[in-house]
Amino acid sequence: MSTASAYLTVRGIEVDVVYKDIKNLHVGVYPPLGRVRVAAPKWLDDEQVRLAVIRRLAWIKEQRRQLRDAPRQSEREMVTGESHYVWGLRRRLRVVERAGRGHCELDGDRLVLYVPEGTDAAARLDLLRRWQRAQLRLAIPPLIERWESRVGRSVPAWGIRRMKTKWGSCNRDTGHLSFNLELAKKPPRCLEYIVVHEMAHLREPDHSRRFTTLMDTLMPDWRYRRDELNGAPLDHEEWA
Ligand SMILES: [Zn+2]
Repeated sequence: MSTASAYLTVRGIEVDVVYKDIKNLHVGVYPPLGRVRVAAPKWLDDEQVRLAVIRRLAWIKEQRRQLRDAPRQSEREMVTGESHYVWGLRRRLRVVERAGRGHCELDGDRLVLYVPEGTDAAARLDLLRRWQRAQLRLAIPPLIERWESRVGRSVPAWGIRRMKTKWGSCNRDTGHLSFNLELAKKPPRCLEYIVVHEMAHLREPDHSRRFTTLMDTLMPDWRYRRDELNGAPLDHEEWA
């Protein structure tokens, strides 16, 4: 049995919807970005789900606010012993103080930061982010190249940005794709899903049924990758 699913945009908020054999509608707001996901009974349609989401907008915004204010990885101390995710794997951080330019590298299962003495947490984090950006710059071009022929569109330009609420975006007018820097912490299959998702927007700008069908054709397991990317729910609410 296949599961129907849809994307809705409700008052500017992107909502992933899955229709299942369940009695009640569930809404979850997922870390780290506050993605909204709805599990809906099969007898509801997109419009009824949209109304249900609108009724819960205040609650959703409050969950997102709490997520944004919660301690994040970016507020960590950047000291030896901390763990940091690299391509979906937990790596132990080792900070080595030495003269010269800062440098970041993977050494076995350790993530090593070489920094001049007295480098503070913010500068260490900046170094790590520059390294994550370089990792993505290497990983993304082969993915785009692999998928251009399958999607049937070429990517005119792309970039990496820090984004608060999205993993990626596609500029409808220019075709410019943006990818969230945080993807460097996630498994490569999740990055590939976002690349394909944004490339699919070059054919279908909105999260319509046509878009979902296109994704099903291109990448049949995209829902699993999306769920892996979005992790466990922060909170869960249920009503009849
Ligand atoms: Zn999208």
